[in-house]
Amino acid sequence: MSREILGIHHVTAIAGDPQRNLDFYTGVLGLRLVKLTVNYDDPQTYHFYYGDAHGTPGTILTFFPWPRAKKGRQGHGQVTVTAFSVPEPSLEFWARRLSEQGIEFEGPYGRFQEQVMAFSDPDGLRLELVAGPALSSEKRELAGPIPIEYAIQGFHSATLTEEGYERTASLLTETLGFRLVQQDGNRFRYAVRSGEPSTIVDVVCSPDSASGGMGSGVVHHIAWRTPDDPQQGEWHSEIARQGYNVSPIMDRKYFHSIYFREPGGVLFEIATDHPGFAVDELAVSLGTRLVLPDWLETRRSQIEARLPPLRIPKVDAARSA
Ligand code: ZN
Repeated sequence: MSREILGIHHVTAIAGDPQRNLDFYTGVLGLRLVKLTVNYDDPQTYHFYYGDAHGTPGTILTFFPWPRAKKGRQGHGQVTVTAFSVPEPSLEFWARRLSEQGIEFEGPYGRFQEQVMAFSDPDGLRLELVAGPALSSEKRELAGPIPIEYAIQGFHSATLTEEGYERTASLLTETLGFRLVQQDGNRFRYAVRSGEPSTIVDVVCSPDSASGGMGSGVVHHIAWRTPDDPQQGEWHSEIARQGYNVSPIMDRKYFHSIYFREPGGVLFEIATDHPGFAVDELAVSLGTRLVLPDWLETRRSQIEARLPPLRIPKVDAARSA
């Protein structure tokens, strides 16, 4: 089999107020806004992409901020937690920072030999910081206001809450190339490759939980990384062959995607690493202006007039580790 899943590509969630979302992820958590665009299926609303300095796959959290969204309901059939990786000695820093910002958190507590802190974003989206080894310095570049030794390094993992886990587990292990690496009670940890951050998914089997409902503060879908278009094509054939109702390959401008629902109800996407976020902006100016795809550019003034006004964070491209 030549096709490969490399880990998490991105996670996409629903938010309420766009400015509050932007201020939280860039200001409090220190992620970089790497792309400011609109929802291609609904151009009167924004699509925000946050990530590391370059928007590397495995660091990208995206939002559809809908100011009038009703609140979502967390439950089974969803990605219920999105966890970020932070360097080992930084949880004390984060405890202080979240306290200063008036954000309640739980932990640090241990899980699978790692220390975890849990909290929610302003819309109630569940997040975690998981302490682990620092990435090598050439892989890290300062993206926001957090000192590099404490800054988020990308995803650690995502947690899927499922009513039953067997069919989801089969899809992960028999088709997508994950293997079971740890288990504790009803939590099953799967990983691809060597199990480093951003290659991990936890499946929590929670038959008594209510089913989730879409809305603000809830994850819309999770995307897995595949390196290139030929492998994407193979994934498309294989997922269809297994009887899943898979979308055609879609051009999302920064990556190419297919979508299908896994047996427990979570919307899965498989997205290519290429072409990436520098395809329509210089790397130094990612996320500093509203970028529209060609087919919407002719309607720019009309689209801008309808979008809520936004204060975009200033990026000092000269600051690097
Ligand atoms: Zn996506």
